[in-house]
This record gives sequence, structure tokens and C-alpha cells, in this order.
Amino acid sequence: MSTEKLDIPENMKSTLVPEIMQPETEFKFRCHKDISCFNACCKRTDLTLTPYDVLRLRQHLDMSSEEFLKNHTVPFEMDAHGTPGIKMRTDNEGACLFVREEGCSVYEDRPSSCRLYGLGSLAKHDQGTSGEHFIHFRNKEEHCKGWDEDKTQTVKEFTAAQGVDVYEEYNKDWMRLMLKKKSAGPSIGKPSELSLQLFFMASYDLDRFKRFIQSPSFSKIFTLEKAEFDKICSDDLELLTFGGRFMLHVLFGEESVPVAENAAEKRYEERKDIIDMRYKAEVEAHNVKAEELKKEALRVDDERQDDGHDADSCHGKSCK
Ligand code: SF4
Ligand code: SF4
Repeated sequence: MSTEKLDIPENMKSTLVPEIMQPETEFKFRCHKDISCFNACCKRTDLTLTPYDVLRLRQHLDMSSEEFLKNHTVPFEMDAHGTPGIKMRTDNEGACLFVREEGCSVYEDRPSSCRLYGLGSLAKHDQGTSGEHFIHFRNKEEHCKGWDEDKTQTVKEFTAAQGVDVYEEYNKDWMRLMLKKKSAGPSIGKPSELSLQLFFMASYDLDRFKRFIQSPSFSKIFTLEKAEFDKICSDDLELLTFGGRFMLHVLFGEESVPVAENAAEKRYEERKDIIDMRYKAEVEAHNVKAEELKKEALRVDDERQDDGHDADSCHGKSCK
């Protein structure tokens, strides 16, 4: 087992033993309904949701993305730049709203971290390669008795049995964005407020993102082939994948989505009247202000002359 140092998220630092586990690493773990701690992990949760988690859960609940975000999530900032993330909403005691006496009520579509429970995962980019992959590590919490059970399996067998692979596949682009943002460091600076809003929309609020793609303001700047446009607008998974690509464009300026020719000029033409109006208003305000200052200066000068404090009458000496 490797003891490579990991960049562990702050909220996990207190509980885990950071040992990287390779796909073939064996470990003993089993969770089942008759275990003494059954549901203990769901009654004390701190679950960060990924875009694919949100998609699966809201499809399970047959909810729009707006409805799901409003009823089941709370926002938080993932980094010092205020990159928006979401967590699963809990009750006042910290219990997941989906836990029932008999177990998880959204089991088939439970989030990736619930599936992996017992292990943690991080996306990693290896120097000199073009792709990212997930690495797993032991995340042993004291209340979890699954570690005392006598079932041996490899990491690969465990993640396959928990259906984690498909989650990792669909979350890969999003993790790549986060990694890229982190490794770019201060060179890209703080994204604008608008970029952060687009990030939230493309990651979690897919219904709104779809409306944005269908809006005239999108098509004036970006050009998508009709076949691709139709695919994105009719399949939420395609939309999610496109969202990752779109954010590469927004956050890092990568030409990952084709831009309409002369988009900037067209946008200026379209907004020319407003820009001109604003400019005229600014010039007008500036002139008014200058006029006021001039009048004020003349008024002060008049007062000084009335008081016999004309500069000439002092002959350069100070008046007392
Ligand atoms: S979603 Fe299900 S497995 Fe995950 S914390 Fe909630 S009840 Fe537990
Ligand atoms: S605490 Fe561990 S063993 Fe107990 S229910 Fe949760 S995952 Fe299973």
C-alpha cells in the first residue's frame, strides 16, 4: 500500500488514514442490514454532490433541477475563489433526508460518496499524461463496523459492485475542471461572477442550462451543429458532458465550443445603441459635474471680491 501524500479535502482530514489503495489492493469490509451500526453513516452526513449525483437523484425523484436544488441541497464555496458547490440537505441533527428505518430510500441512485463509503476517492492528473484518473484511499470512520466483517475484496471488485465506475466516468470532466483550476493557481485569477454563475448552472442546474443554450444570446456567440444541438437538448447526459466542455471555454478560454465569426463585433453591434446611450449619459453627467464645479469656483471668487479679498488688493502679502 502506498503512503503517497494526498491533498485531502479539509472536511475529511480528521477521519481518514490517507493510504492510497490500488485497484488490486485487498481489504476487508462488508455493510449489511443486520450490522449493529446500520444507518449510522446516513444519520451523520456531510455529502458533497457531484453533477452526476444531482442528475441521478433528480431523475429518481422526478424533479426539475430547480426543484431538486431548492428542496435537497445547500450551497457552499469549494475554494477561496468562491467556486460554487452543493451539499445534500440534512435534518437538524445532520441525518440525510432519504434515510429510512429499512435503509436508503434512493438506493439505486444514491450519490457516489454513499456508494464508496468506506473508501474515499480523488481525481489525479499524472504528469506527462493527458488524462485524469481516480485514486482511492481508506476512509475508516470509528462508528463503522463494516471494517470488522470478514469479507475480503479488491478495490476494483468493491467499486464495481457498488456501481461507482459509471459515476466516476460521468464526473471525470467536472473533476478535470476542478483539477485544472487548482493547478492553474493564481495565473487564471478569480473567475468573474458571471463565470461562477455559469459554472453552477452547467454543473447542477441543467434545466436552466438547457434554456440558456436554446436562447438567442447563446447562438449569437456560439455555433453548434444542428445534430449536436439536438442531441444536447434531448439528452441530459449529453447536456452534462457538454457543460464540462463549455466551462473549459468560460474558465480557461479554451476554444472547446465553436465561436461564431466576429462574435465580439456582432455583440457590440447588437448592443451598440445601449453602449452609445450609456456613453452619452456618462459624458452628460461629466459635463453637468464640470459645470457645477465651475459655478462653485465662480461663487467663491465672487464672495472673496465682495469681502475685499481680491487677490490683487493683497499685493502678494497675507491678509489678517
Ligand atoms: S442518500 Fe442514501 S445512502 Fe446516502 S446518506 Fe442518504 S440515505 Fe444514506
Ligand atoms: S456505518 Fe458502515 S457498516 Fe454501518 S451502515 Fe454505514 S457503511 Fe454500513
